[in-house]
Amino acid sequence: MSPTLTLALSKGRILDDTLPLLAAAGIEPAEDIKKSRKLVFETNLPGVRLLILRATDVPTYVELGAADLGVSGKDVLMEQGSDGIYEPLDLKIASCRLMTAGLKGVAQPQGRRRVATKFVKLAKRWYAEQGIQVDLIKLYGGMELAPLMGLADEIVDIVDTGNTLVANGLEPREFIADISSRLIVNKASMKMKYQSIQPLLDRLREAVEQRALAHS
Ligand code: AMP
Repeated sequence: MSPTLTLALSKGRILDDTLPLLAAAGIEPAEDIKKSRKLVFETNLPGVRLLILRATDVPTYVELGAADLGVSGKDVLMEQGSDGIYEPLDLKIASCRLMTAGLKGVAQPQGRRRVATKFVKLAKRWYAEQGIQVDLIKLYGGMELAPLMGLADEIVDIVDTGNTLVANGLEPREFIADISSRLIVNKASMKMKYQSIQPLLDRLREAVEQRALAHS
């Protein structure tokens, strides 16, 4: 019998893009995830189950082996960093950019900048690379409010359409990184469950390629 495979999914915006990709790869939850409050779902594939987690918890579950595989935003992976996981596949979903942003028309201060973000480690690294001195302020959401209320000069945040920035009187400034969701795999699972994981990886890789062709 093949071993159980647990795939941890990030809920929210990433999940909306993940479910169609899984379906194209032949992996369907046994019930409608969107209509249920459950956090664990069986699938049409015997032994394959899905976990629905907060995006920032997915790498933790995979690194510690509570899930064999996961779908995680590159932003989360860059912020958390991990030696315990492989990142074999760019799923090319939930694509967006990590940017700095500030109040429209307001120049950056000459001296130290106050920067609000939930990506403090990543921002610290990036500003250090640019040789810019910053005081980082950790926030857990609604970063766009910080410049407006005088809490920060600048934010580091995810930008997709840019509508959220505009709606809050902000403008994008510097590009930090392209972001998309990645398939991640626990290193021990990759060794121990290779026979089960490899076909799943192949199906997903093919679904990603088909999707890219359909969108080109
Ligand atoms: P937008 O107004 O389209 O630029 O979307 C920006 C907001 O949506 C950001 O503040 C993010 O919190 C969220 N967002 C957009 N795309 C993503 C994504 N791929 N992953 C996580 N959050 C996202």
